[in-house]
Amino acid sequence: MSSLSIAQASCADDYDPNSMPVDKARAFIHRFLEPVRGTLRVPVRSSLGRVLAENVVSPVNVPAHRNSAMDGWALRGADLAAAGETTLEEIGVSFAGKPFTGKVQAGQCVRIMTGGVVPEGADTVVMQERAKANGKSVSFAAGQKPGQNVRQAGEDLQAGSVALRRGRIVRPAELGLIASLGIGEVAVYRPLRVAYFSTGDELKGVGTPLGEGEIYDSNRYTLHGMLQRLGCEALDMGVVRDDPESLERAFAEAAANADVVITSGGVSVGEADFVKGMLGKLGEVVFWKIAMKPGRPLAYGKIGGAHFFGLPGNPVSVMVTFYQFVRDALLVLSGADPVQPVPTFHATCTAKLKKAPGRTEFQRGILTRGPEGQLQVRPTGEQGSGILKSMSDANCFIILGDSTGNVEPGTTVEVQLLEGIV
Ligand code: AMP
Ligand code: MG
Repeated sequence: MSSLSIAQASCADDYDPNSMPVDKARAFIHRFLEPVRGTLRVPVRSSLGRVLAENVVSPVNVPAHRNSAMDGWALRGADLAAAGETTLEEIGVSFAGKPFTGKVQAGQCVRIMTGGVVPEGADTVVMQERAKANGKSVSFAAGQKPGQNVRQAGEDLQAGSVALRRGRIVRPAELGLIASLGIGEVAVYRPLRVAYFSTGDELKGVGTPLGEGEIYDSNRYTLHGMLQRLGCEALDMGVVRDDPESLERAFAEAAANADVVITSGGVSVGEADFVKGMLGKLGEVVFWKIAMKPGRPLAYGKIGGAHFFGLPGNPVSVMVTFYQFVRDALLVLSGADPVQPVPTFHATCTAKLKKAPGRTEFQRGILTRGPEGQLQVRPTGEQGSGILKSMSDANCFIILGDSTGNVEPGTTVEVQLLEGIV
């Protein structure tokens, strides 16, 4: 944890816990994040989704050999006629994995395939579409440049250079890149342990009938999904009743067993009061009303050595606050570096949106392409913070900034995709 205490940080001049702008809250949280240190060595495939704990240094040149970028013939650039065709004698073939072992002399060429080693003496490849073979005599069209279509050894990566930096999240491209260097094992940070529980007397687990006024607990399911996607080791602690003793026990147990504790519910006015008191005893926690919708109440702090995120109870608020605050924080804590915010871009809104100025709204949207290929977005429908179907139907957030009021159809709005391609 940063040496700066939460109490000190929250005394900043422009700090207003009753109307905390989204960016300020984010920046505040980031002052306290210190990545995990533990590492483990894993086979390359198992590193998918993990964070590299060491630089990956290339033990080899990539490519390892000078090779052809085209199917064609390898020849000496000096043999190319200044004007008109060049005709040379084919003396052999070089296929990928089956090199030609001789030397190309003046007046000679070698049939070569993409990836084939460029034989000694040759320095140029002419693609087959620019050549005409007649038995062993091959004529090359005018206009070829010495040195063309040859990939030099070490051109992509020199032996001894850093191929991937520590902090990189391993995606499919990284798996392939590491394998391309002949490396079979890498060091990754240990997964972040995240304990989570739902709070609320009204909550029932699936598989049990509902009594009067009860609802099924969905937040532990969305949290499970979001945490799994981030590669966290998720510890489900179930539903905790709204009574101080059970809550205190749950908080203490969660903090003792995890790097991060996430709860849902119990942070709105009234409920927050007794949670506040208890967390004051167990650790150091700030309660905010974030100037955003959905997701207004949010708590952040430390309980013992664990980071604590107290998310609101409403199912959509849980997801929005997770994606806007918790996700990046978990990535930083997991050792990822750098952590960039998920990019936003512009699209034309095709519907009218209700929006009050003075807060940031994360409406759930459906982004599509219009008839001319232009990006357009529409809301998923009713935007209530309890309507989880709005998250399920959505493929993006429509982010409406603090100063924005109602949006008329045809207005350009900011959108953020929920899903990427890798
Ligand atoms: P709270 O923040 O505890 O006042 O909860 C706000 C709203 O979200 C209430 O309508 C709760 O019933 C609902 N809610 C709280 N926790 C959950 C949960 N785990 N699953 C589904 N709905 C919840
Ligand atoms: Mg509650």
